[in-house]
Amino acid sequence: MSVSPERVVDGVYRVADGAVNWYLVEEDGHVALYDCGCPRSWGTVRGVLDQLGHDTASVEAVVLTHGHPDHLGSAEEIRVNCGARVLAHKTEVGRVKGKAKGSSPFSLVPGLSLQLWRPHALGFVLGATAKGFLMPKWVKEVEAFESDITLDVPGKPRVIPTPGHTEGHVSFELAEHGVLIAGDALVTQDPVTGNPGPCLTHDVVASDPAKSRQSLGTLESVGTEVLVSGHGDPWLGSMSDAVAHARERDAA
Ligand SMILES: [Zn+2]
Repeated sequence: MSVSPERVVDGVYRVADGAVNWYLVEEDGHVALYDCGCPRSWGTVRGVLDQLGHDTASVEAVVLTHGHPDHLGSAEEIRVNCGARVLAHKTEVGRVKGKAKGSSPFSLVPGLSLQLWRPHALGFVLGATAKGFLMPKWVKEVEAFESDITLDVPGKPRVIPTPGHTEGHVSFELAEHGVLIAGDALVTQDPVTGNPGPCLTHDVVASDPAKSRQSLGTLESVGTEVLVSGHGDPWLGSMSDAVAHARERDAA
């Protein structure tokens, strides 16, 4: 079954491949992908490019929020087949290359397996596993970037450090589009419980849950109007409202 891109705002598309989202941003005929799903996403990437009238050569970059296998997906195939740059925060590069402590998807298995009594968590794990979650394709060449800079790729993302879910997790503010791509720092549906609305991911999938909570404070002041994330539907509203919602849920 082919996956169709959904327009979020002009030039920004969401690709919901199972329970995982990634985003495509167009600028002057060039394309950047923000995350790229699970390891077996290459076919989906090609299908989406086709539907939007882009060829593989138009993919300039894959920009990663973090190195979990359901986000770094087929970045290596995109790098090789499209000639695209793959960019990640300097603290996250080891994970993206499969060389950091905790890179292995099996490090998430003990925590996740305790949650499999939840129908949503079971569906998420089965779906991601079918798409190669346990067999990541590490990226051989990665460009490292710093926090608080603007990257020279379609979307002109400002890098907002949001560590916690992983050590080098970042979010991207696309100021011209009014969109924040929050990855898994603040999701709009918890992949473990399935509850919709802005929230933190479950602590069992976070490297440092206390830091995830601190990172909400960084996101609170971002001036975008649309929140998109790794899991769940786009959410319209201010970031201060989104963060307030996440804190309420966290305290409940
Ligand atoms: Zn993640």
